[in-house]
Amino acid sequence: MRLLPIRSVSPLLFAVAIAALFVSTSSPAGDDKVEYIPTRLSDTLTMLKGRGGNIAISAGEDGVYIIDDQVKPVTDQLLVAIARISDQPIRFVINTHYHPDHVGGNEVIGKGGAVIIAHDNVYKRLSTEQFNHFFNETTPAWPKDSLPVVTFNDQVTLHFNGETAQVIHEPHGHTDGDSIVYFPDSDVIHMGDLYFNGLYPFIDLDAGGSIQGMISGVERGLALAGKDTQIIPGHGPLSDKASLTEYHDFLVNARDNVQKLIDEGKSLGETVAAKPTAQWDAILGGAWITPEQLVTFIYNSLQGITQFTPLHPDDHS
Ligand SMILES: [Zn+2]
Repeated sequence: MRLLPIRSVSPLLFAVAIAALFVSTSSPAGDDKVEYIPTRLSDTLTMLKGRGGNIAISAGEDGVYIIDDQVKPVTDQLLVAIARISDQPIRFVINTHYHPDHVGGNEVIGKGGAVIIAHDNVYKRLSTEQFNHFFNETTPAWPKDSLPVVTFNDQVTLHFNGETAQVIHEPHGHTDGDSIVYFPDSDVIHMGDLYFNGLYPFIDLDAGGSIQGMISGVERGLALAGKDTQIIPGHGPLSDKASLTEYHDFLVNARDNVQKLIDEGKSLGETVAAKPTAQWDAILGGAWITPEQLVTFIYNSLQGITQFTPLHPDDHS
């Protein structure tokens, strides 16, 4: 997920959001105060909600490491919130993917000495200029201190604080660089943005995402989970296997509904007009990603179109 979804906010709201970003950049600990909500999950793990993707913090006998670090302008506040959980230095950051609401703290925390770990494609995207049709914007390469130092192509395991964390790449889901992080001892899974709990997911076609990969990623999470597993979504409240199963069923049924219309020869516009996600729109379609955008992700994905194509391009202006 990215902040400032241009298609779904009015020009006024967009201006307010930009103003807030400016204020928070100029006085990160001042007016733009973020409320951080920690939830203790096990002896070592805490989930932290703030501004951006959900964070997991491991704190214990060996020190501290974190999964994702939210948006850049409020990193100083984030560090204060983490220090309330443990005053040990942050040794590692694992990025679940490259979006700026998950890697925004990398620069400051990397400069502070933490080793940033992520999939190879996270490094590739952060280290080069990116253009994205969904946001209709170009993002420059990130500064060197923001970049992962250790990258992997399949999976990597951390042995720290008396337990293991298995960082498992799931190809072509939300992006092409997603990882799930599984803690067997604490019985916790961080799903990254393969799981949006309570809202329609963003499938970043321009960054190699696909509906099929998203479903496969969720199935991997379900295979790892037991009935008591605590599941951290990329966005939304703490979850469990029952809720992730419902989300999986929604993804599969939405895909099948769109595929049926494709099989009937419908265009993207006709498919959107047929409202193949109507049964979920009221519950999941109001927070960020709209039904039209979700259907476009799925339709293009199933047609092998590797970018977002707005039905109404002027909406981006
Ligand atoms: Zn994301």
